[in-house]
Amino acid sequence: MKVPFLDLRRQHAPIQDRLEDATLRVIRSGRYVLGPEVAAFESEFARYCGTRYAVALNSGTSALHLALLAAGVGRGDEVITTPLSFVATVSAIHYTGARAVFVDVDPRTYTLDPALLAVAITPRTRAIMPVHLYGRIADMSAIREVAGRLPVIEDACQAHGAALEGRRAGSLGDLGCFSFYPSKNLGACGEGGAVTTDDPERAETIRRLRDWGQSGKYRHVLKGFNYRMDELQAAVLRVKLERLDGWNAERREIARAYRRALEDLPLALPEDVDGHVYHLFAARAKGRDELRRALESAGVETGVHYPVPLHRVPAFAEFGYVEKRFPAAEAVADEEISLPLYPGLSAEEVDTVRRALEGIVAGVPR
Ligand SMILES: *Cc1c(COP(=O)(O)O)cnc(C)c1O
Repeated sequence: MKVPFLDLRRQHAPIQDRLEDATLRVIRSGRYVLGPEVAAFESEFARYCGTRYAVALNSGTSALHLALLAAGVGRGDEVITTPLSFVATVSAIHYTGARAVFVDVDPRTYTLDPALLAVAITPRTRAIMPVHLYGRIADMSAIREVAGRLPVIEDACQAHGAALEGRRAGSLGDLGCFSFYPSKNLGACGEGGAVTTDDPERAETIRRLRDWGQSGKYRHVLKGFNYRMDELQAAVLRVKLERLDGWNAERREIARAYRRALEDLPLALPEDVDGHVYHLFAARAKGRDELRRALESAGVETGVHYPVPLHRVPAFAEFGYVEKRFPAAEAVADEEISLPLYPGLSAEEVDTVRRALEGIVAGVPR
């Protein structure tokens, strides 16, 4: 039996008719960009996250970029984030002309370590961007306390529906950034993103920036972008948003099954905390690359998130980030292995992963 790393058809199968109805409705409507589906999705997603506003965009990267601009970040500024994330987190900072200042992750949570935050703040710091990595919310109350009046921007691209003390990701900072890339916990059938906020002025700034900085037709009051969401993606996301809590519950169930199945193996498993939505099941193992190859031969596909910490990305050489050491993030980059975890993954498949791992650990040739 082969266990694929991800199979979105399984997630879509039970709602196939509704997805097809929604897309046909859009195609027949004659409205394709920033229309009624986008407006409806924005209010439904804001309500879901517990914020006053959500502004729909064409990607998570665009969400990070516009949230930074709306927070006042620009040329010569510094933005604090972690070196353990997808490359987009830092690229969005660079788009504004600012540079990243990295703070290492807590080795237990894999999110920004608040104990290391205060010393990283300088007179140039303009914003703090924690990442809710793998579906676990960063230590937001400690981060906010150290941040003081500095805006805190959540990179919630892996944390749709994740919660901390009853409040959802996207409502825990000044601005929340989401990606709806197909593989995310809430994914479109294409690209998409959104910023959530309670601040009416920032919401309006982001609405203008996504559509060429216009305050009215051809009134370009800001230097803007084409970051608009299309109606097809909004219609799909409206159908899928109704299922998000159920899918996240299923992800937690699968994580529990893995934890029971793998507890005796020499793997470090992610901590189970309330509100975790397991975008990824990020385990750790010494000899990770060998283990991945052995699992692949046993029919189990895995992933790595991420093999190169962001301070060591070759494209960012000019910023000199590589001079600094971030031991916790570097260790994760060397040891992290993501096991298959997604809605529709069966108990038999979890058991196949367990048997494959047990065989490899016991040295049984396969
Ligand atoms: C996916 C992701 C992004 C970027 O989102 P896109 O929609 O692909 O642009 C940013 N940050 C994190 C942590 C992500 O996982």
